[in-house]
Amino acid sequence: MKELTHYIDGAHVKGTSGRFSDVWNPATGEVQARCPLANADEMARAVEAAAKAQPAWAATNPQRRARVLMAFVGLLNRDMDKLAEALSAEHGKTFPDAKGDIQRGLEVVEFCIGAPELLKGEYTDGAGPGIDIYSMRQALGVTAGITPFNFPAMIPMWMFAPAIACGNAFILKPSERDPSVPLMLAELMEEAGLPKGILQVVNGDKEAVDAILDNDVIQSIGFVGSTPIAEYIYGRGCSNGKRVQCFGGAKNHMIVMPDADMDQAADALVGAGYGAAGERCMAISVAVPVGDETADRLIEKLVPRIEKLKVGPYTAGTDVDYGPLVTPEAKKRVLGLVQSGIDQGADLVVDGRDFSLQGYEDGFFVGPHLFDKVTPDMDIYQQEIFGPVLSTVRAGSYEEALKLAMDHEMGNGTAIFTRDGDAARDFANRVNVGMIGVNVPIPVPLAYHTFGGWKKSMFGDLNQHGPDAFKFYTRTKTVTARWPSGIKDGGEFHFKQMD
Ligand code: NAD
Repeated sequence: MKELTHYIDGAHVKGTSGRFSDVWNPATGEVQARCPLANADEMARAVEAAAKAQPAWAATNPQRRARVLMAFVGLLNRDMDKLAEALSAEHGKTFPDAKGDIQRGLEVVEFCIGAPELLKGEYTDGAGPGIDIYSMRQALGVTAGITPFNFPAMIPMWMFAPAIACGNAFILKPSERDPSVPLMLAELMEEAGLPKGILQVVNGDKEAVDAILDNDVIQSIGFVGSTPIAEYIYGRGCSNGKRVQCFGGAKNHMIVMPDADMDQAADALVGAGYGAAGERCMAISVAVPVGDETADRLIEKLVPRIEKLKVGPYTAGTDVDYGPLVTPEAKKRVLGLVQSGIDQGADLVVDGRDFSLQGYEDGFFVGPHLFDKVTPDMDIYQQEIFGPVLSTVRAGSYEEALKLAMDHEMGNGTAIFTRDGDAARDFANRVNVGMIGVNVPIPVPLAYHTFGGWKKSMFGDLNQHGPDAFKFYTRTKTVTARWPSGIKDGGEFHFKQMD
């Protein structure tokens, strides 16, 4: 059995805690590796190496730091296929989707190459007689990030690229379900010229996370994952005095207005609902057609498209639309929620429960499901399913559709499909959700904008990537300086008014 490692102080090191978790091949249902689960001592070793390396990295000028990221982009492109292969083999997503995962992270790295510009401070010349004021952005020191299984390349890069560009050391605690790509990324960063100790990967579960939360040297924590864990990490991290940003789960609604192009809406829903087997925080999991007539037309367009979906292993290349779920527990949970939908009275229009693939009978595949006439009291509406299950909630009016999206506790993304600019504009302005698509089903902002939801999808003040990341990973220091003429008149005992 392959045994994975940690990556500490520039080297692969074996786990010493004696605890491991299984890493599956989700397509075959076999355990392909075991992942070491770090204890507090192993985490402390990484923190020590990070603290030792960080001051010299922070003192390296931002342009030189950016050059390491530039070289890293070249290496990502060089190794794209190798990385995507490792990613698909552990996660289960299709090969093109795995490349998309890496590409979206790579784009954040490209944005961070602009660090010299983004880290420029502010300067007021002559704020008073002989007085200048300047603000600078300084690195925090040792920072850490905890990431989910569903984007094992993109989300680590969302965090470590800006953290490192700003002069911090970064400790990554990736998901124990697919840890190989994060380890490969750390190796590539060093090949690109990053000094050892600046990017380390410590694998683990709650024990490793708690060791991060309670470590006095770690200054900031980034988290992406499910909402209960986001709330836990935000609460404990903040009360330990750290800067924390936590991104949680989602339940993204797509409003379909009566005037929408129904073919376009159905195509969008199929891609956004079933792509990556629904294991995306920006997946559309709720379709909200406005009016029964719209709902009937939409369902009529959706059913044949869903029935044609090709579900299979990533080794089928472009000939497959989505792959298996990540673990046997994930499959069990999704099928349990499907059963609850049936029990609670929703119409199961497309039933994927009996799906089986010859040669892959033990894989964690789940066929596509479509529910109609779902109501807000049902578990399949309230909970994030994170599987290939789309629920349709029929709304009587636009206002009712808007209220549904607004009343749900999650607020990551949402979309409206319409030809009416007035409705689209009203929706974008009023809805209490962080990322909005207008005739765009998965409105994930590009690297130079910021990414973040509202309500229980996000805890903290600053979003991922874009300019917010450079604020999150730096502290502002402001200097008021007077040279030298103003210091001849003796001490001053009141706040000076600037003349
Ligand atoms: P998860 O919450 O189970 O795990 C995320 C991370 O937390 C992992 O590194 C895991 O090891 C760690 N963790 C798990 N249990 C813990 C515990 N009890 N204490 C401390 N740490 C713990 O999430 P997941 O299943 O890996 O990912 C799927 C979830 O992530 C979904 O809810 C999805 O919506 C969400 N997600 C959100 C975004 C976003 O940007 N909002 C993006 C991607 C995924």
